[in-house]
Amino acid sequence: MRESVLITLIVAMIWVALALLAMGGAGGGQRLSAPTPDSEPPAASAGGPETGAPTEQPAEAAAFDRRFRLPVLAEGQLLSLTLHDYLTGVLLAEMPLSFLEEALKAQAVASRTYALRSYARRRHEGAALCTDSGCCQGWRDPALAEPAARERAEAAVRATDGLVIRYEGALIDATFFSCSGGQTEDAAAVWGSDLPYLRAVESPGEEGAAHFSDELRIPLAEFRAALEALDPELRLPEDPADWIGPVTRTAGGGVETITLGGRPFTGKALRKRFGLRSTAFSLRLDADEAVFETRGFGHRVGMSQYGAEAMARAGNDFETILKWYYRGVTVEPYVGEKN
Ligand SMILES: [Zn+2]
Repeated sequence: MRESVLITLIVAMIWVALALLAMGGAGGGQRLSAPTPDSEPPAASAGGPETGAPTEQPAEAAAFDRRFRLPVLAEGQLLSLTLHDYLTGVLLAEMPLSFLEEALKAQAVASRTYALRSYARRRHEGAALCTDSGCCQGWRDPALAEPAARERAEAAVRATDGLVIRYEGALIDATFFSCSGGQTEDAAAVWGSDLPYLRAVESPGEEGAAHFSDELRIPLAEFRAALEALDPELRLPEDPADWIGPVTRTAGGGVETITLGGRPFTGKALRKRFGLRSTAFSLRLDADEAVFETRGFGHRVGMSQYGAEAMARAGNDFETILKWYYRGVTVEPYVGEKN
């Protein structure tokens, strides 16, 4: 009797052990883990359906940037970079890494949105983007960066993994620039096309930025020659006091047009000709000089980086910052293109 109880117990224990082993085998890491790092990026081209892109658990979403590969043109070389390495390099090139984490995260999401939108459109032959900041977004090889800076950039990318900005379901044109000088600009004022999420907004707290305001002095004779080259019809009066006429301004405080010698000049044309930091300027003529005073640095459309830093210092998180500079948008995980 005792013996049979013992045998029954032993059999039961073996059963339990076998059952545990079987469960362990099925529930182990492999089957539930994310796809391999080098798997194909989710279909992002126009018309592509939502594919096996990560949609389920947070654990999967955390790996998105490391799985998605971008063809990037870097000084004539075609590189295949993970979105993670690309964005880390963009932050290193485009953003002061002394900025607070929420500002860095806002930049990471804006740059990811810009990259995925460019990926869908293939801005360059065979590549999604180039590394020229004047064309696409600047990029520095993270492997060559100072470790502390790289770690700060990487942390911001990781913390926002896979997040993008959309307006009415479409990835936005997430433009950004250094410093607004107090107010951003309407897209229409700079590029002629109206985008409802790129509107002039207040951007307080940037006074500490290096280029919050600047002064540029140009000898009067040189100024005159440059204007006459821009407009061969121009006949400036003898007395410089009579040169400057009415000024019209954009919603964001930029110069739309300024009348000089009775002829209209756009703020954009003067910015380009004289290398002004922005179109938000005032102009006065001294005895022998033209004096431009500019506010901000860049085209001033979209997110101001110094403004983002000021908002972060005031306690705002990255999503609040993004929704301030890009109006009416949502911030959400990327799951491919819907249209
Ligand atoms: Zn480019």
